[in-house]
Formats: sequence, C-alpha cells, structure tokens
Amino acid sequence: MILLLHSDCGAYGSLHQVFKDDQAAEIDHHRSELRLAYATVKGAFPKVSVECYFVDFAGVWQLESSFFTDAQSASG
Ligand SMILES: [Zn+2]
Repeated sequence: MILLLHSDCGAYGSLHQVFKDDQAAEIDHHRSELRLAYATVKGAFPKVSVECYFVDFAGVWQLESSFFTDAQSASG
C-alpha cells in the first residue's frame, strides 16, 4: 500500500492559509499524519507492506521506514 500526502493540500486548508507558507511546519504536520496513517493500516493489516510519500513542488520524497518503526526517531 502506498500512502501519499502532498503540499498545499486543500483538504488540510492549504499551505498558505493553515501553515502560513511555512513549509517546514507543513512537512512536520504531514509527517505525523503519515505516521498515524501508517500505524492505522499496520494495525488493521499487519502483513501489508506500506510505503509513505510526501509530494511537494520540488519532488516526491519517501519517508524512511525507520521513521515509523524506530521509537528513537519519534521526535525527529
Ligand atoms: Zn490534496
């Protein structure tokens, strides 16, 4: 399963309105959303392999699996 979030998403109220054009804040928020989505999918379907991506105007970025599985990286 591939989970995607993208920059300036209207469902989140857009980069400008909600995040005041602060891309780092938006990425932080979307990373935690992907972490939650990952945990939800893995909780329901433990055997499904899950990849998470964030898409912005510069490219497509894959979130490393250690981000989801390593508790030490939870604050990063
Ligand atoms: Zn969107």
